[in-house]
Amino acid sequence: MKKLASAGEIVVEIMADRVDQSLAEPGLLHGPFPSGAPAIFIAQAARLGQPAGLISAVGDDDFGHLNIDRLRDWGADVSAIAIHKGQATGTAFVSYRADGSRHFVFNIKNSAAGSIEIDEGAVALLAGADHFHVMGSSLFSERATSVILAGIEMVKRKGGTVSFDPNIRKEMIELPGMREALTKVLMLTDIFLPSGEELFIFTDAADEASAVTEMLARGISAVIVKKGSAGAVYYDRHRQVTAQGFPVTEVDPTGAGDCFGAGFVSFWLRGAHPEDALRIACACGALAVTRKGPMEGIATLAEVQAFLDDAIGRPSP
Ligand code: ATP
Ligand code: MG
Repeated sequence: MKKLASAGEIVVEIMADRVDQSLAEPGLLHGPFPSGAPAIFIAQAARLGQPAGLISAVGDDDFGHLNIDRLRDWGADVSAIAIHKGQATGTAFVSYRADGSRHFVFNIKNSAAGSIEIDEGAVALLAGADHFHVMGSSLFSERATSVILAGIEMVKRKGGTVSFDPNIRKEMIELPGMREALTKVLMLTDIFLPSGEELFIFTDAADEASAVTEMLARGISAVIVKKGSAGAVYYDRHRQVTAQGFPVTEVDPTGAGDCFGAGFVSFWLRGAHPEDALRIACACGALAVTRKGPMEGIATLAEVQAFLDDAIGRPSP
């Protein structure tokens, strides 16, 4: 089976107990939960049985070990996660707002994740990788961006492929160097996985169809637009496939897009038809939102298949 690699931030996520809870005053919090978009992606891929490893860095602390243990227990390759003594593992505190938006307090760039590099472990992981996945959130510093571009280059040189989830809000795009970094990655992308308005970061097109046509004309093989509870739409040069979202009770939306991406890319790498890869991806995304904590809803392939079997037996909404 083809092996996936990604590079970027590992963090713990700590969640406010109440909707609209301020992070500027003491309050009840839940966590620490293992997190970081590329870590969630790699964990989900590994849970589906895909060989998958992450290039990252953590501190020699409980938060770092919590993440490494989780990834290892779920079958991911953790050999390229450096442990830096004297540095702290990254953190993300999050509070959900009543309108569904999220407010974050991040410590990533100045955490151990900021020291990410292509060390011996990373070179070895990339040497065995067939596909590289990029999370836009991982382009958080010049150093992290250079690691990701080096990863893409090493995998592409061997004939490998690249997927890209911008995973970023429009406001973040104005951070210094961010737009340039995202654009560089887009030029090297085979599978593009935007959600909502992320499709329009790279184009002035007025609607989804024209934006997708423009992306495909740039040489991207497939564009998959994620639409939350409504599901997702797949496009390539020949066709379009729409998948409805599965009806589930959403407890915590964080991580859905990462799990969806891992499901799609893992099955695309196995040569599955877009319909099948999309169904697996939508099931992974739906299951992800049913648990509090970004990785807690990650399902194994057997669990995803049981969920799909159950969904077939259920009347459509
Ligand atoms: P995030 O960045 O928060 O992880 P995203 O914006 O990248 O998420 P979404 O569109 O929110 O991605 O979710 C990805 C996929 O997960 C959707 O296309 C859908 O298939 C599934 N999904 C997400 N939320 C729900 C939900 N409430 N019910 C059912 N399926 C969902
Ligand atoms: Mg996302």
